[in-house]
Amino acid sequence: MKIVLENLTKVFPSRNKKSNDEVIAVNNFNFEIPDGKLIGLLGPSGCGKSTTLYMISGLQKPTGGKIFFGDEDVTELSTERRGIGLVFQNYALYPHMTVKQNILFPLQNLKGEEKMTKDQMLERAYEAARLVQIDELMDRKPSELSGGQQQRVAIARALAKMPRVLLLDEPLSNLDARLRLQTREEIRRIQKETGITTVFVTHDQEEAMSISDMIVVMKLGVVQQIGEPQNVYDSPANLFVAKFLGTPPINVFRGRVQGGKLFIGEAEVMDVQGVKDQAVTVGIRPEGFVLDENGPLSCKLSNVEVMGRDVSIVSTHEESLNPIIRSIINADHKVNLASETVRYTLKPHKVFLFHAETEDRIYFGKTEEA
Ligand code: ATP
Repeated sequence: MKIVLENLTKVFPSRNKKSNDEVIAVNNFNFEIPDGKLIGLLGPSGCGKSTTLYMISGLQKPTGGKIFFGDEDVTELSTERRGIGLVFQNYALYPHMTVKQNILFPLQNLKGEEKMTKDQMLERAYEAARLVQIDELMDRKPSELSGGQQQRVAIARALAKMPRVLLLDEPLSNLDARLRLQTREEIRRIQKETGITTVFVTHDQEEAMSISDMIVVMKLGVVQQIGEPQNVYDSPANLFVAKFLGTPPINVFRGRVQGGKLFIGEAEVMDVQGVKDQAVTVGIRPEGFVLDENGPLSCKLSNVEVMGRDVSIVSTHEESLNPIIRSIINADHKVNLASETVRYTLKPHKVFLFHAETEDRIYFGKTEEA
């Protein structure tokens, strides 16, 4: 089921009639979510991810725009009639019911044409439980389960209804690091097996990048970029997106373009043909540095952290906008720890230029607008 968001907008009115401090939680969101895909809605706290999800679910009404499931306009439809499965951060299981009863509960409330016999309900409940691999735990109470198992019950409960659309709001936040990893793989597997169009809200870029077919990066209610995770990482539309994606984060420098050359401080670090003379902000991915004793970019060496296959070199530079610069270099390359400086050449496709004021991307050479 494809989902179409058309000029979707949500404004929360000001609480105080005299002031005009309304919040535009979601501002003119347009997107066609393709059928059967997993979409990660991503952004910092308060950017409007949850509000978008709640509007898709029907829990909140948009103040502008429309939502379609397939060709059906569902904007005015109640949550119950949208055919969605919702999973929240706090699993919201009924503590006095067993796992089986929890999964059966929404099925027992189906009305009219959707009403099911007891056997049909049991079959559905077990099918969903098998999918998330909790069918051996059906007679336990939620308190007798681990966090990951509880979250799987919540997912099974959402799936049992055979929803047209699955909506997940920070479903992994309450899990420890290992379980998060395991459960996110699980969500991906379940989503692929069922083919249900799924929207997944998270503030964790790594999580979104690892399981989504496409990510939507939001800031202050406004969509910044939509695309396949790798494409967004490789070609961010602006400085915000570049900074939001990637661990370790992108390194940011003050720079200047003059005569088709990029300068950081006095050093001419790269050709940037076609860019007019101007002050720029330069983003360099940690993997964009190449150790080179004759390289043009000279940084003050602070520290080298061994990470097995790679080493992470920590350094500083007067023009860096971050307190430290972190580069990731293959461990085969030896760093002279006695040296005060470390010199680099740059990989052009790992270097991005941004307008110094608007922070929009400035494309150069072969880089094309994503
Ligand atoms: P988080 O990751 O912290 O949950 P989010 O990206 O999901 O953040 P939303 O919950 O969608 O953000 O909130 C977007 C903006 O709308 C925020 O500025 C928030 O304060 C505001 N907002 C959300 N709900 C309401 C409400 N009921 N009344 C007024 N403002 C609200």
